[in-house]
Amino acid sequence: MTTREDCLALDARDPLGPLREEFVLPEGVIYLDGNSLGARPRPALQRAREVVEKEWGEGLIGSWNSAGWRALPERLGNRLARLIGAGEDEVVITDTTSINLFKVLVAALRVQADRDPSRKVIVTERSNFPTDIYMVEGLADMLQQGYSLRLVDAPEELPAAIGTDTAVALITQVNYKTGHLHDMAALTALAHECGALTIWDLCHSAGAVPVDLKGSGADYAIGCTYKYLNGGPGSPAFVWVAPHLRELVWQPLTGWWGHVRQFGMEARYEPAPGIGRYLCGTQPITSLAMVECGLEAFEKTDMQALREKSLALTDLFIERVRARCGEHPLTLVTPLEHARRGSHVSFEHPEGYAVIQALIDRGVIGDYREPRIMRFGFTPLYTGFTDVWDAAEALVDVLDSDAWRAERFMTRKQVT
Ligand SMILES: *Cc1c(COP(=O)(O)O)cnc(C)c1O
Repeated sequence: MTTREDCLALDARDPLGPLREEFVLPEGVIYLDGNSLGARPRPALQRAREVVEKEWGEGLIGSWNSAGWRALPERLGNRLARLIGAGEDEVVITDTTSINLFKVLVAALRVQADRDPSRKVIVTERSNFPTDIYMVEGLADMLQQGYSLRLVDAPEELPAAIGTDTAVALITQVNYKTGHLHDMAALTALAHECGALTIWDLCHSAGAVPVDLKGSGADYAIGCTYKYLNGGPGSPAFVWVAPHLRELVWQPLTGWWGHVRQFGMEARYEPAPGIGRYLCGTQPITSLAMVECGLEAFEKTDMQALREKSLALTDLFIERVRARCGEHPLTLVTPLEHARRGSHVSFEHPEGYAVIQALIDRGVIGDYREPRIMRFGFTPLYTGFTDVWDAAEALVDVLDSDAWRAERFMTRKQVT
């Protein structure tokens, strides 16, 4: 059985421990929500000043060239590539995950329409992040070509749901609620056997678990940078397309940034070769620049080391909560098996919302997702073993004391 002293010792000899200094968190806060909005990298403030004061304020329009603004989506894409098993010049950072999903979904459907127009089914999980499902619905409605959505109710049902009628399997690698982790290589191989293409949503994987897009044979991938990648609130998302599929079709948002000669100002669209064609319009440079600060922290370590610590942190949290909260109506919904677990842990509690609010009141920040799910994210870059211990003890205290029953913890806020 672990003790708090053991946790202090683990932190003291943790080779990733010093990386905590790369981030700024308020005093007295244990931040377990880096899976929703990553913490602020220390250099971000300085970088923001530089972009606003110097690049914008002094460089003005010239900064598109002199400060490298125009090249940022590609340049940062290359820095991210290493974390997701993508190659050089294969990733751009741009737009939002929802928008990038729209682009790759249309592209994938067009590739399939050329190969076998009878494939009309898009398979995904009912518990997928809602925007993924909504974007498919909206697209099917827009196209009016008989596309339909097949929603499966459990991760184990995915393989059987992907068949010869399937155009695309849209799979979020780590489920945002349960933390369930899919086997990318196995599911991709299965989809390909049926002739289906795969789109991988890496929102809860990038920077959280090792990802090997190329090694897995994946077709398309999208994901955000404001969660585990610590790019800042609403920082632009990323998109990757397997090189052999990239130039087969146009992506649908044919804006001038994706044109082969952006400043040719030609009357006709001609997509850029390479991943640059997945850009659409002018990028939010101040926000995009912050992504670099998030990525820099990852260059001081590697995903294997982060994964080991992440599993140790989630193991410890599960062990502590189970040992200490046995009498309370808590149900672990995150897989115990390491190979099926992402980097967050979720427990169901009938009054999960109020319990989370009471925890936040004590400086332990997790979050709540409908229905009844309390979510705790463990980001090995800045979370220590003693944090995990103390967070579990705070949960014990909130539950044992019934503190969560206070009226003020019951009122729902706009963002939960
Ligand atoms: C967070 C998240 C998104 C967010 O999409 P945005 O367009 O960036 O708001 C999409 N999909 C999944 C699986 C997510 O976890």
